[in-house]
Amino acid sequence: VVNTPFPAGYPSPWGSGGAEGWEDAYAKAKDFVNQLTLVEKVNLTTGTGWEADVCVGMTGSVPRLGFRGFCLQDGPLGIRYSDRDLMRRRGQAMGEEFRGKGIDVQLGPVAGPLGRVPQGGRNWEGFSPDPYLTGVAMAETIQGIQSRGVIACAKHYILNEQEHYRGNVNVKIDDRTMHELYLWPFADAVRAGVGSVMCSYNKVNGEFACENEWSNNYLLKNELNFQGFVMSDWGAQKTTLSSALGGLDMAMPGDGAGPPYGSFWGGALTEAVLGGQVPEWRLDDMVIRIMAAYFKVHTGNYTYRPDINFSAWTKQATGPLHPLSNSTFTVVNEFVNVQADHGDLIREIGAKSIVLLKNENHALPLNKPKSMAVIGEDAQDIPGGPNACAERGCVKGTLAMGYGSGTAEFPYLISPATALQLQASADKTAFNNTSSNWDLGAARAAASKASVAIVFAMATSGENFIIIDGNAGDRNNLTLWNGGDDLIKAVASVNPNTIVVLHTVGPVIIDYAQEHPNITAIIWAGLPGQESGNALVDVLYGKVNPQGRSPFTWGKSVADYGAQLMFKAPNPAVPEQTFDEGIFIDYRYFDKAAVEPTYWFGFGLSYTSFDYVDLKIAVSNASSSSAASGLTAPAPTYGTVNKSAAANLLPAGFQKIRPYVYPWLNDSSATAATGTGPNISSFPAAARNGSAQPVLPAGGGAGGNPGLYDVLYMISATIKNTGEVAGTEIPQLYVQLGGEENPFGVLRGFDEIVLAPGEVKTVTFELTRRDVSNWNSTSGNWEISTKEKFVFVGSSAALIRLNSTLPAPA
Ligand code: BGC
Repeated sequence: VVNTPFPAGYPSPWGSGGAEGWEDAYAKAKDFVNQLTLVEKVNLTTGTGWEADVCVGMTGSVPRLGFRGFCLQDGPLGIRYSDRDLMRRRGQAMGEEFRGKGIDVQLGPVAGPLGRVPQGGRNWEGFSPDPYLTGVAMAETIQGIQSRGVIACAKHYILNEQEHYRGNVNVKIDDRTMHELYLWPFADAVRAGVGSVMCSYNKVNGEFACENEWSNNYLLKNELNFQGFVMSDWGAQKTTLSSALGGLDMAMPGDGAGPPYGSFWGGALTEAVLGGQVPEWRLDDMVIRIMAAYFKVHTGNYTYRPDINFSAWTKQATGPLHPLSNSTFTVVNEFVNVQADHGDLIREIGAKSIVLLKNENHALPLNKPKSMAVIGEDAQDIPGGPNACAERGCVKGTLAMGYGSGTAEFPYLISPATALQLQASADKTAFNNTSSNWDLGAARAAASKASVAIVFAMATSGENFIIIDGNAGDRNNLTLWNGGDDLIKAVASVNPNTIVVLHTVGPVIIDYAQEHPNITAIIWAGLPGQESGNALVDVLYGKVNPQGRSPFTWGKSVADYGAQLMFKAPNPAVPEQTFDEGIFIDYRYFDKAAVEPTYWFGFGLSYTSFDYVDLKIAVSNASSSSAASGLTAPAPTYGTVNKSAAANLLPAGFQKIRPYVYPWLNDSSATAATGTGPNISSFPAAARNGSAQPVLPAGGGAGGNPGLYDVLYMISATIKNTGEVAGTEIPQLYVQLGGEENPFGVLRGFDEIVLAPGEVKTVTFELTRRDVSNWNSTSGNWEISTKEKFVFVGSSAALIRLNSTLPAPA
């Protein structure tokens, strides 16, 4: 039973720059913020309103200092792969593209949803239900993006695990599950220096995430020592004071409240500061955090800030600068081509992300087959072009991304049918392409004549503002879409060399295909993006030896997963969900419940084979780690601002754009907070206390206590390529932390090892203190238990090749 009392989450911790990588940024930010007036400060914290400017989110500006407002733009576009270097390079490429468009903040990457339930509509925007894997991917992506002068945004913080009821569900969670599962990848994001975090739509233990003093103040800003800023998801801010005191730093898109200001902040925040309901130091902290994130990424070659040269709201060259007010028609889209050679990288990622799930009788790789039948809508070009459906909100042709705000526009899309036909022509393979999913007679006829039949099927999901075929973001089930299962069965009924290619956002029920004797190979190509067909051909023909490993477990039924999506709340007026499965999701649950899935987390075949020998464990001499302690400095303020009402009024003669959010007071009598939400009397005094505050035991450094990241063990294994072709193995390290309250194993390391035939290499994993600790909610700290622990090295969560007990730390 979840019953977590909120630990003291007030006051909202003030950024100090006291975390690795932030010192210079804070020094520059202080110089900047020192110069600002009160309304200029407020202006940087509040969006100008939905569709008020060309970006999906835009803050106010500081015209006096020539400082343009912040341009925030989607999205994360998470595709899946297992290679750290590719994660980093993907982040760099995205950063370059966002910067080329003049964007300040890229609204990604995603670690929430983590993937508690496989049908979660937005799981594909992130990485994996495993927190360790997601944490590594977050860190690499963030560093890649930010290395190119663009602020990354770790979202959606936190527990936004499904689309149904996302706007008001109250998620109840215990402290341990929070730390060991859902907060874990956000800790990695903070440690990687992420500049911003987006709080989510849902409630956490009774309070909305964007005004939640436990998740924002206590966990993120205190324990994890986050020095950047928290922005609201679009419309996730609900009140003036609760959000300001609960740790929110930027309101997006800024409008959405009633009169008098049309915003919970803007003029309402100016009033609250003048009235003393929001301390001046809290406003200053919002602004210093925002500006520090800005200066953190704008260094070296990236000091210069490109102009915004696109509009989120039109595909035409000209359009309104302020769409909602229809004013100022001008060139808004300059169509700057930011692709560079990223297509090559996308193809490489696409191919290396493919997971080979089944390969019998050497069906793959293909070698100049006599004849080939390509079957299914999911292999085809998209009628009307790859972006024909807004935000990919339809099912037509091949699936290469999910739907919703996490999508991007395709510059082009190479379909599987197109790429396969080209290869067929080079090989003189007789080629037939049958597109209908519903004409099973035609599918059988085409398949029965071919030496190899490749049948394609898909399943998509996305955000709840788009409903496809009754799926409101979340998937209603785990079957293939558009009759895909029947199509596969029809093809397999007549062709003994049937190859199944899947484009899906997550697991689908595919046990029948695994067992079917005529299905010789199954490929999961995920959501490959614009180079889909080329990447697939690279793997089907052995130009790339498959190395992708499944980032989730493939169950045989929805029930196999334990935790379930809540489609109908027992009380829809106050929807509530208790994550009482704790840390047991995905493979951890399958193992605990002794349910055999079709494929385990981490599984994937290669065209070669590998042997594992020689597990070695070296205990390092890391110094012991002590609980962090001591006090912070008191809350600083920056510069001196004129607090007279007159100084904060709309300047005479200023022409307002309507509707548009402004920071000025409406009239000089407006000095008591007229903001929306609870009155200041309902907050504890601590909420406005700017005196020195205690550092938490688990805190003290970016991502938590620095001692958590000390390496306590080096674990090595030797791997040999025992097959005929070169290949890449992804060895995985799992740890059993001891006792029944811990899963059989949790992922704590992985690597990519490229091996020529016969070649032998040693892989070394580092195990940190955090990796072998559990969260103790009583002491409020991580702890290494005295329970006997084990380590496993293998090629999936179930294919354990080597194992050993783990000696006690030094
Ligand atoms: C989504 C965010 C997105 C924002 C701006 C929201 O509905 O949840 O992920 O960044 O819209 O488009």
